Amino acid sequence: MAVTASVPNRLPDRATAAPRGDAARPMRLSVLGATGSIGTSTLDLVSRTPEKFEIVALTAQSNAKELAALARRHNARVAVIGDETRLGELREALAGTSIRTAAGPDALVEAALEPVDCTLAAIVGAAGLKPTFAAASQGARVALANKECLVSAGHVFTSAISRAGAELLPVDSEHSAAFQVMAGADPASIDKIVLTASGGPFRSWTRDAIAAATPEQALKHPNWSMGAKITIDSATLMNKGLELIEAFHLFPVGVDKLDCIVHPQSIIHCLVSYVDGSVLAQMASPDMRTPIAVALSWPDRMAAPTEKLDLARLATLTFEAPDENRFPALRVARAAMRRGDTAPAVLNAANEVAVKAFLDRRIKMFDIAALVEETLAAAERQGAICPAQSLDDILAVDDMARALSNEKLSGY
Ligand code: NDP
Repeated sequence: MAVTASVPNRLPDRATAAPRGDAARPMRLSVLGATGSIGTSTLDLVSRTPEKFEIVALTAQSNAKELAALARRHNARVAVIGDETRLGELREALAGTSIRTAAGPDALVEAALEPVDCTLAAIVGAAGLKPTFAAASQGARVALANKECLVSAGHVFTSAISRAGAELLPVDSEHSAAFQVMAGADPASIDKIVLTASGGPFRSWTRDAIAAATPEQALKHPNWSMGAKITIDSATLMNKGLELIEAFHLFPVGVDKLDCIVHPQSIIHCLVSYVDGSVLAQMASPDMRTPIAVALSWPDRMAAPTEKLDLARLATLTFEAPDENRFPALRVARAAMRRGDTAPAVLNAANEVAVKAFLDRRIKMFDIAALVEETLAAAERQGAICPAQSLDDILAVDDMARALSNEKLSGY
């Protein structure tokens, strides 16, 4: 991983980063989680300059039809489906092509090990850990959307990146924004990194109204079009908590210099304030194709077909402090970040269980944060919040936290 002393983050410096792939040789790219919101946005960008990319592996979990269509459209070398029962469907849909197919969790890891210049890691949840670690072990570029790698496995993941000499680029819009405005800065010159949050669909709702919210209401994000899991996390503000933990590992300025602010228009994605009072911010329309384009083309820039900003038409950008009384998940996530060790891994696993239970209508909105907090407390009592040395340690904690929260779920 290219890191220089002058860059207050674990990310490459413009001076040392080289474009991956060039006019003479297209970028060899694998997309893990190709059928998802980030995966399809990535492939949309690819389809606009296909000569610049060579698609190696595409993966999905169960959507064999869409995976096959994407693999055909992009002439992928390999198409892998996580759910083994869908292999027949995938093979049938790819009959007559030379695209290799495989299925199952081990096959996802093997797909991530196919030699590439860049892996776009966009599997949702802790299920993305093993394949993304495998991608990192190649020593190439990892464009990271799967925030769970940093949330659950923080130091273990950044160590794996360093050991392999890989290059980590953030895809999450706030972290991409921070990366863009911080490149070259002296760490001591930074006063605060402030991530923005849209506030989600319940930003102006009362606590009582949020308590009664349905999955359909929570899935209606005002600005961003995203997968279901992250959309619910945006409604609870857990997503901002996960992103603070992600930022903690990407930009090691310490927890006290990391904060968030509600900015309903989602135009500014991150603000970095410096000790002299200057505040640098990155602005863009809320469209993930911008940060994906940054991660694919850095240190160059590639065109993205996003709506150009018209500030005169927007006219007003507003900001509010987040309300942890109506959005307790943010408080719970901040506490897990401060606790450190495996607390964020427990937080993430319990939250995945809770979000699924909410979508299945087994629990209500505020139960999400309550279940996560209860699971963290139980894990602490059991001595399970401790330093982790390896991915296996993280996966064991993840399993334990899921079991604990599923057990507690029966009491709701
Ligand atoms: P989606 O739910 O839209 O897509 C998830 C992708 O992962 C799909 O390809 C899905 O396959 C695959 N997948 C799901 N479960 C598994 C599994 N168990 N094993 C292997 N693959 C699996 O998610 P998003 O694209 O919204 O999010 C992807 C990641 O990017 C998340 O970590 C999210 O937090 C992060 N992110 C997303 C943003 C966004 O705007 N969407 C913004 C910033 C970060 P299938 O279609 O077959 O189910």
